[in-house]
Amino acid sequence: MTSTPVKIPFVDLSLQHQPIQEQIEQAMQTVARKGNFILGQELAEFEQAFATACGVEYGIGVACGTDAIAIGLHACGIGEGDEVLIPANTFIATLIGVLRANATPILVDCDPDTALIDLEAAEKAISPKTKAILPVHLYGQVVSPSQLQDFAQKHNLIIFEDAAQAHLAEREGHRAGSIGTAAAFSFYPSKNLGAFGDGGIIVTRDEKVAKIARSYRNYGCSTKYVHVEAGTNSRLDTLQAAVLKVKLPHLHGWNQSRNQAAQYYDRALASLKEKGIISLENQCGNSHIYHLYVVRINSPCSLKREDIQGKLAEEGIQTGIHYPIPCHLQPAYQFLGYNTGDFPNAEMLAQEIVSLPMYPGLNEAQVQQVVEALARIIG
Ligand SMILES: *Cc1c(COP(=O)(O)O)cnc(C)c1O
Repeated sequence: MTSTPVKIPFVDLSLQHQPIQEQIEQAMQTVARKGNFILGQELAEFEQAFATACGVEYGIGVACGTDAIAIGLHACGIGEGDEVLIPANTFIATLIGVLRANATPILVDCDPDTALIDLEAAEKAISPKTKAILPVHLYGQVVSPSQLQDFAQKHNLIIFEDAAQAHLAEREGHRAGSIGTAAAFSFYPSKNLGAFGDGGIIVTRDEKVAKIARSYRNYGCSTKYVHVEAGTNSRLDTLQAAVLKVKLPHLHGWNQSRNQAAQYYDRALASLKEKGIISLENQCGNSHIYHLYVVRINSPCSLKREDIQGKLAEEGIQTGIHYPIPCHLQPAYQFLGYNTGDFPNAEMLAQEIVSLPMYPGLNEAQVQQVVEALARIIG
């Protein structure tokens, strides 16, 4: 059997890199020639630029988004014996980050329409040990800042945002990363702002949190060879920071392009709603940055999700599932003691969701092609 050539890939990064390829290579060459590979000037410049873009004072570049969560929580004073509320339907790194901070993740169900953490469910999960809520701005949609802040204030909790899918996303006039005490971002290559490898950053407006995180990522140093606390080695490479610094000014435009493509999807998919293809709800309007465009497939559509994906693939259209198994049902985390049935909405979404192609530059004709193929397949 010959495989179908890809017509519409799930993600196409070349589209965003091509126009700035020379600038990026120039920036990399500069670092290579200077040889300032660790904690170089480009890192400090990027950290400042990214923090400013988030609307906060401090940015601390780290090796990846998972480390940004772990180190960020630690810097906020979260650790052994502390409980942290997280959604059950997130990428596993959210959970890993909490565990790596030696804290206890307490899982919470989500809203089935938006897939964002359900704050009423979160309220029921609070115990005397609860220290923080860690909302995930899943798929590029920000969890309501006003509701989060009311919730945190009422229960005396810290807000720590997992903004790994929400670079420059906004809601109610607040930017992702500026809502809580601190936030974690990832620069994994396919994120809305991606490096040429792994990377992450902690952002905060709290000087003390910034100071602890900055020391912790660099062996816990205060000054060279003086270790004020038990730290680790987790720095964002100067080379990656140089690449990210070139890309950052383009991010807003790329996000707008994704939002535009999502609007094309919304419009084209409206007629398939009665056939069981339902787009997730957008409560952020133009500020949803659509890291992913996710639809649910349920009745009356009787085709299996995997069959629909297979038929789309035969037409050269790539799709994904984010994520097929919620955190509480992952084999490695059975020790947390959760069972099937604990988080019905997260479990239902894991069965029903499909992510359609989404990247800056995806145009109306391509979206039309995806939706027409989908319509034909479900009949
Ligand atoms: C990507 C991602 C992370 C982890 O980032 P890495 O850089 O891959 O470690 C954490 N949380 C969410 C929601 C993510 O999407």
